[in-house]
Amino acid sequence: MERLSNIRNIGISAHIDSGKTTLTERILFYAGRIHRMHEIKGKDGGATMDYMELEKERGITITSAATTVEWNEKQVNIIDTPGHVDFTVEVERSLRVLDGAVLVLCAVGGVQSQSITVDRQMRRYRVPRIAFINKMDRTGADPARVVAELESKLGHVAVPMQIPMGSGVDFTGLIDLIKMEAVYFDGPSGEDIRYEPIPDAYAEEADRARHGMLDTLNLYDDDLMGVMLEGHDPTDEQIQTAVRRATLRRDITPVFLGSAYRNKGVQLLLDAVVSFLPSPIDRIAYACDNANDGAEITISADPDGPLVAMAFKIVDEPFGQVTYARVYQGKLQKGKQYKIARTGGSQRIGRVYRLHANKREDLDFAAAGDIVGVMGIDCVSGDTLCDPDINYSLESMHVPEPVMSISIVPERMADREPMSKALNRFCKEDPTFHTHFEEEAGETIISGMGELHLEVYVERMRREYKCNVIVGQPRVQYKEAPTQVTPYNYKHKKQTGGSGQYAHVVGTLIPMELNGETDYEFENKVTGGRVPSEYIPSVDKGFQMARVKGPIAGYEVVGIKMVLEDGSSHAVDSSDLAFQLCARAAFREAVRDSKPCLLEPIMKVEVEVPTEFQGGAAGDIASRRGLITGTEIKGNAVTILAEVPLANMFGYSTDLRSLTQGRGNFAMEFACFRRTPAAIQEEIIAKALKEREKTSSKK
Ligand code: GDP
Repeated sequence: MERLSNIRNIGISAHIDSGKTTLTERILFYAGRIHRMHEIKGKDGGATMDYMELEKERGITITSAATTVEWNEKQVNIIDTPGHVDFTVEVERSLRVLDGAVLVLCAVGGVQSQSITVDRQMRRYRVPRIAFINKMDRTGADPARVVAELESKLGHVAVPMQIPMGSGVDFTGLIDLIKMEAVYFDGPSGEDIRYEPIPDAYAEEADRARHGMLDTLNLYDDDLMGVMLEGHDPTDEQIQTAVRRATLRRDITPVFLGSAYRNKGVQLLLDAVVSFLPSPIDRIAYACDNANDGAEITISADPDGPLVAMAFKIVDEPFGQVTYARVYQGKLQKGKQYKIARTGGSQRIGRVYRLHANKREDLDFAAAGDIVGVMGIDCVSGDTLCDPDINYSLESMHVPEPVMSISIVPERMADREPMSKALNRFCKEDPTFHTHFEEEAGETIISGMGELHLEVYVERMRREYKCNVIVGQPRVQYKEAPTQVTPYNYKHKKQTGGSGQYAHVVGTLIPMELNGETDYEFENKVTGGRVPSEYIPSVDKGFQMARVKGPIAGYEVVGIKMVLEDGSSHAVDSSDLAFQLCARAAFREAVRDSKPCLLEPIMKVEVEVPTEFQGGAAGDIASRRGLITGTEIKGNAVTILAEVPLANMFGYSTDLRSLTQGRGNFAMEFACFRRTPAAIQEEIIAKALKEREKTSSKK
């Protein structure tokens, strides 16, 4: 257990441009993993590409799936959490395997849209976090405002653990409110830490801030409160313990300050990671026992138990597939065979290694708590690996549905094969990336979480697979949903020569609230064997097959519960197939009668423009059927928050650029599906029908 208590699996999350890459590089430097620091230039949106180029140029893996460093004799595994909103599933996947996180915020920008998204996801996975307010050297740095935003926008109880000495160009160092010392970062790269008594000019402010910190901690820690009620000044250790306990319970978010770029504060942040974020034993993991009806069980971090591990990221490298895995229980041993819970198949582990910034360290095994790279196995991201004699699945990850698609056609014959290879690979890596071939049009359709998400894959095809494709117009993935409770009663009867087909189903279609998690439910209420039990799954299957194409415009039907109440069967003519066909027809009829409506994906959009463009930008949002939900003014920039239908967001980056002379920025993420206004619905249906006509006349 001591080994485990020395491990920290952490993620670093940030809004783009807050300094995550710079901070990560500084961490690798101070932990002795790289020996030179480089300047990181600004990026222009296509973050993932830039990271890849960046890494290639420097031969280090800043943003690889996992990087290990040692700090204060603890092993810190840094798991990459991409910040871009189009890659939410990557974030989800890494959040699933980390135990704690550092939320990087810009001292000027504060809590921005991506931080809000990632924080919401972290809450779902119950990840304790600490905050790092970066860029304290920038003019306009205002840590107090950022702390207030942590409270107002994210609902955290944010507890500053430091105060700055100066800010902007005068930012010289920090005051540690536990030790009550001033800390300076000397030397060419801030590597020489100097502790000094607090300068007189800051004495009063530091006292006040320490009292504020203790007052808040008191609310969450009875032991500390006890000490203080007795009139004692708590020791450093007592405070540290209280902070750790409250952080692990997610009662508070301790806040640290610094400037990664100016080499200030990073080492103290690392100290905090080690002191306050959880080790694998502090967190409980659950799994479903597939051999026992999916019953939930607790996974112990026991290295001697049977293996349970999760493959959370798949990367294609020139010499084969690398699978990044987190071991939750037992040991993952080189050369041994393990089961992939999803398929039941068995896979042999070729190589296990730990990833450092610039080298791979081969291991004979990885034990509970570890995060390692594995070679030689064929699996997809999200798979559970387990001992051959158990059949556990770690709780499934939340995978959002794709919201848009485009068609792609290989440019030349020679592009066909690499295209299919690339698509295969992308599907394995990314569960939000889907692809299918549309026979009618003779095109391949790729779907995902947004324009950029798909663009990145098209670009990767070109770069990594040397394959050029012609890209079609982006299309929104609409959905169809019933709006009223509708009974159904359908008899499927066919007499063709010898044996016939007979099936009969009776029940009710019930519209379901859309919660983004379950789109379809089936409930069996048949009594007395009126529909023989062996055909119940056939009915469910038939419904699900019919659900793929709805009656309005051929989109997937969601928000639907099908209750089967009654029916009848025939001793000879009933079969699995007959019940499937019957259910399909019943479903279609019932949905058609349920006054179905069209749902469209709505995006949460955050636009930042200089104040002089506020009117223009807001008017533009409104003309896109957008709903402005908030406006915030920070200095001479204004942030407009809005909800806009995805259908009207295509090409927005170009439009915003020309509207603001290139000075506007925006971020967006999927928010929900919402009912389309009637007039728009008519338009979409007409367009869908026209496209269908076009493809059938092309044939
Ligand atoms: P990321 O998008 O969050 O990975 O951000 P980067 O690390 O790429 O940083 C974005 C920009 O901010 C770069 O131009 C950095 O040089 C700059 N930057 C990063 N940290 C700081 C800091 O502490 N102070 C200042 N002034 N700039 C910083």
